Amino acid sequence: MDEIVSSAAANPASAGPDSRFAAKIFPSPNHGERKNPDGTPGRRPDMLILHYTGMPVAGEALQWLCNPVSQVSSHYFVFENGHTLQLVPEGRRAWHAGASHWAGETDINSCSIGIEIANPGHPGGLPDFPDAQIAATLNLCRDICERWSIPPERVLAHSDVAPGRKIDPGEKFPWRHFAEGGVGLWTEAPPIRGGRFFARGESGQPVEALQAMFAMLGYGVAVDGVFDEKLEAVVAAFQRHWRPEKVDGVADSSTITTLRDLLAATQGARMA
Ligand SMILES: [Zn+2]
Repeated sequence: MDEIVSSAAANPASAGPDSRFAAKIFPSPNHGERKNPDGTPGRRPDMLILHYTGMPVAGEALQWLCNPVSQVSSHYFVFENGHTLQLVPEGRRAWHAGASHWAGETDINSCSIGIEIANPGHPGGLPDFPDAQIAATLNLCRDICERWSIPPERVLAHSDVAPGRKIDPGEKFPWRHFAEGGVGLWTEAPPIRGGRFFARGESGQPVEALQAMFAMLGYGVAVDGVFDEKLEAVVAAFQRHWRPEKVDGVADSSTITTLRDLLAATQGARMA
């Protein structure tokens, strides 16, 4: 895999796209060297981050990701009709995640591959992702996960690694469909009912236990027993991905059971 990293880095544009599901290369100048946590170069991507563009017009989003002024980019860009471009070689560090955290890592750009999915997002009324776009994105994700051996629990939303700051690709992204197609982790959330729940303002041992569970899954959350604005943002990010029927930042029993089931599934995946 080191050879793939170095050859891609040395030869960014002449060899064609890294994925057979990208039609062509449309280069962005916004990338750098992948770095290991100790600062040495050559980090291998082992995480996949999905985004929506959040702009009304796909072409304008693409131009922005390729504009040196923007200082942002992604490895791939998927249009509404499924047409897919590669902007940055997979061996290079694209600038898509920003200030982020997952499972103890804060340089998410160095360890991830980023895909921008053209969609106007919440500011544009969160329209459905067209079927052709979902099919193309799923093929691309499956290919990337296979070639880089990315485990299901490291296929994440931008909102998972930057809760409170980012909400893309949003609660309408079909994560269950992706998991059924072999990409990402999914457990079926139980129905939303009444009963004990935890919300902002509470504190104590049960809140601490809840925080520990979110931290174990990978979220960047303090385990201090205080249900503050930051924990509320983490709960909302979790719901956006795994319990999208209700995204309110309140840890109800359906949310907590889903979290527990996911942790069990993750432990199983890690032991397999
Ligand atoms: Zn994003």
